[in-house]
Amino acid sequence: MSLDEFMTLALHDREGGYYATKDSLSDDFITAPEVSQMFGELIGLWLAHVWSDQGRPSKPRLVELGPGRGTLMADAMRALRLVPEFRDALEIVLVEASPALRKVQQAMLASAGASVRWVQDFAAIAQDRPFFLVANEFFDALPIQQFVKTEKGWCERMVTLGADGALAFALAPGAAPAARIPANRDGAPAGAVYEQSVAGEAIVEQIAHLVARDGGAALIIDYGYDTPGYGETLQAVARHRFADVLSDPGASDLSAHVDFAALAQAARRGGASVFGPVGQGAFLKTIGIVERAQALSRNHGEIVAAQLDRLVETDQMGTLFKVLAILPNGAPKPAGLE
Ligand code: SAH
Repeated sequence: MSLDEFMTLALHDREGGYYATKDSLSDDFITAPEVSQMFGELIGLWLAHVWSDQGRPSKPRLVELGPGRGTLMADAMRALRLVPEFRDALEIVLVEASPALRKVQQAMLASAGASVRWVQDFAAIAQDRPFFLVANEFFDALPIQQFVKTEKGWCERMVTLGADGALAFALAPGAAPAARIPANRDGAPAGAVYEQSVAGEAIVEQIAHLVARDGGAALIIDYGYDTPGYGETLQAVARHRFADVLSDPGASDLSAHVDFAALAQAARRGGASVFGPVGQGAFLKTIGIVERAQALSRNHGEIVAAQLDRLVETDQMGTLFKVLAILPNGAPKPAGLE
């Protein structure tokens, strides 16, 4: 089977899939909203600011893709008490594939003070209101395809059974159709690996189409790269350590670095404007994380200082993690996106 089919099963199979069966991810990896409440608070206020920039459309929808434990949304809604005109008009829609995580999100948001609905995928969101959307560490979790450059051309990497009966990687015998590989990859050397997320690009194109048509915004935050790379980034993580991708499907999280240039291109294809990507550290500093940390430090100074460093420092999450915004054409430049 292709790698994206394998990833879909390993992550989402009803009985054994990693996300489908887990009700906590923090045993395995820690994300920015779990590092500090400051992250979700600032993102909530960023979204309200963009809403205000667009003339405060009535009945906005707050959408999150892959909310995990629901921490980002809970922190955002608390901070949005500062902007009741936005908060009181909101409907929250969470796009979550995992039944186990939906339950965790439900408990976390029971007192959020807005109506919350869940949908299985982005395409199921009603199109009757503009949305203000955030996706943190969602796109890295989407399935990818890998192609390896050989003398025959780009051959797709597949998952198969080895002679010993264990899962193994193998290359498809023939080259993939040229239409599946973008032209800017033509000069790649032999042995280069090209990773593509058809699913991720399709969602971004659809988001951009709706933002361009109805107004609203999307903020995508993830770890990844912004120039075309030829390295392999698929990884398995369990209990805060790298694991083998094939040896125990469903027991570890599978993810791949996000190709921000490809997502930006998909957003432009969808007809919207793109800002960024910029490093997470620069983004958070511009929108006020240092000031927020100072305010919180009155009670827990050392803890807050360590959280701040983790989110913004270049040797931590500050540059590997990037932020990309999608806005309607002609919208003012949003805060934090140079
Ligand atoms: N945003 C959260 C969680 C990141 S983990 C945080 O920052 O902590 C990825 C999340 O995306 C999980 O909630 C997972 O269940 C969800 N997810 C992964 N693939 C999905 C898909 N194809 N459709 C919907 N949700 C998905």
